[in-house]
Amino acid sequence: MATRATTYIGDDWLVGEGEELSVENPTTEATIEVVRSASTTQVDAAVRAANAAFGGWRKLSTGDRAHVLQQAANQLETHTDEIARIMTIEGGKPLLENRDEIGWCVACLRFYSELARTSEGTVIPPIESTQLALVLKEPIGVVGAIVPWNYPLLLLFWKLAPALAAGNVVIVKPSELTPLSTVRVFELALAHLPTGVAQLVIGAGTVGQSLVEHPDVHCIAFTGSTPTGQWIARTAADTMKRLNLELGGKDAFIVCDDITDEVLDTAARGGVWAAYLNAGQVCTSAERFYVHASVYDDYVDRFVHHANAIRIGDPLADGTDLGPMVSAAQRERTERHVGDARDRGASVLTGGERFGDRGWFYRPTVLVDIGDDALVLDEETFGPVAPIVRVGSLDEAIARANASRYGLGANVYTRRLDYAMQCLRELRAGTVWINDPLTDNDAGPFGGFKMSGQGRELGAEGLEAFRETKHVHLDWEAQPKDWWYPY
Ligand code: NDP
Repeated sequence: MATRATTYIGDDWLVGEGEELSVENPTTEATIEVVRSASTTQVDAAVRAANAAFGGWRKLSTGDRAHVLQQAANQLETHTDEIARIMTIEGGKPLLENRDEIGWCVACLRFYSELARTSEGTVIPPIESTQLALVLKEPIGVVGAIVPWNYPLLLLFWKLAPALAAGNVVIVKPSELTPLSTVRVFELALAHLPTGVAQLVIGAGTVGQSLVEHPDVHCIAFTGSTPTGQWIARTAADTMKRLNLELGGKDAFIVCDDITDEVLDTAARGGVWAAYLNAGQVCTSAERFYVHASVYDDYVDRFVHHANAIRIGDPLADGTDLGPMVSAAQRERTERHVGDARDRGASVLTGGERFGDRGWFYRPTVLVDIGDDALVLDEETFGPVAPIVRVGSLDEAIARANASRYGLGANVYTRRLDYAMQCLRELRAGTVWINDPLTDNDAGPFGGFKMSGQGRELGAEGLEAFRETKHVHLDWEAQPKDWWYPY
């Protein structure tokens, strides 16, 4: 069968000229499709087309750009079911979660197309009364959007929507594990944009590297692992690219001593969801639980009960809560972390093993009595594993939560105002969720402290990430000044 054209440059669909890429179904381990990566020459052609398109796109009014983006949002919404199915087949996430993800993409497009219409800078007080002083916000230019596999469309639209709304042009590089949903989104919604404004180059990390190294790409927006983010930061220094990096996390989940009875059950259900959503492959998955000793035993019992109630299976089937992990490599990493914890004396209360004999499934796992030096309390696991640690006080919980090189998000369950205030002030994380884990808000910035990245997506900050700042100083009288030569 002829290889499909899956690279979109200018306004042409092309077959990639790079290496073959076999896209696999993580549920069946079968190959879905073999496509070809874009070559370095094709990436270069996309960068030229993007630079050619930039002038026209940035000159459109924000209202006209909003109109184009709203149409793309409508297209996306209309085709939700079709796209969600592709996402589930290539990524393994349950269909219902993928439908939700597309809904969030649509909302994000609509949010930024309107937000960009509200301001293009500010008027500031001038030095003298015959002057006008402005702070203008302008697009940066060509943005390379490098996207991972865990939320292949949401993490794309968190970049693409604000970047385009602000007047930039974008070249998208999806993960090699999940390119097919992005290809379909381009076919249905993005290929209708003016030529060169949104382009797609598929392939492995090397295609992303070509974007990072290219002198005519002006900004990189990246979500992925911390080591790749560090490489991008080092490499992008050569061309002084603007960077927005959303990297790994090791989020803490704190349960305070005031949480008892029904609320304790809610906190257990919330913890189970925060740990196992998308098989734990969420950058803000709860990966370390710190539970006060006075409620610990009861909390752990309830947590195990709810973990055991999760329905694992075919992610396309109604009623499935948990599908497979995305790849054999991701599951092996989870197994390594659980094995290491066991070797150091941890007990596995449930899970700790694969599910079924086909597909990259791993059972929801609860670990207790974990040694402080265990990998599972230190490195990002990115799998369905909940290590639950007993703590003696809220101070200890916060100290342990902060004793990580990561600082993406943190969760807390408490009904006490003083505890909530202490947590929201003292936790060193980009988002603190109190009594409602993992709820993103288009209007609220998302990103990490410390090794979890730099810059923010979403919110006004997420638009600012794709804007240059220009100070304009205008004097309409053009008179000579006393401080000029001769002194
Ligand atoms: P990577 O950081 O390797 O990949 C993320 C994206 O970057 C992908 O599109 C990838 O392409 C691309 N990429 C890889 N290398 C380069 C490079 N040198 N220059 C430019 N782009 C590059 O993450 P993985 O997908 O390998 O996942 C590994 C781990 O990363 C996970 O276990 C998890 O810990 C973390 N991760 C965190 C995410 C988050 O949301 N914070 C999301 C995904 C992963 P390709 O996939 O084709 O190699």
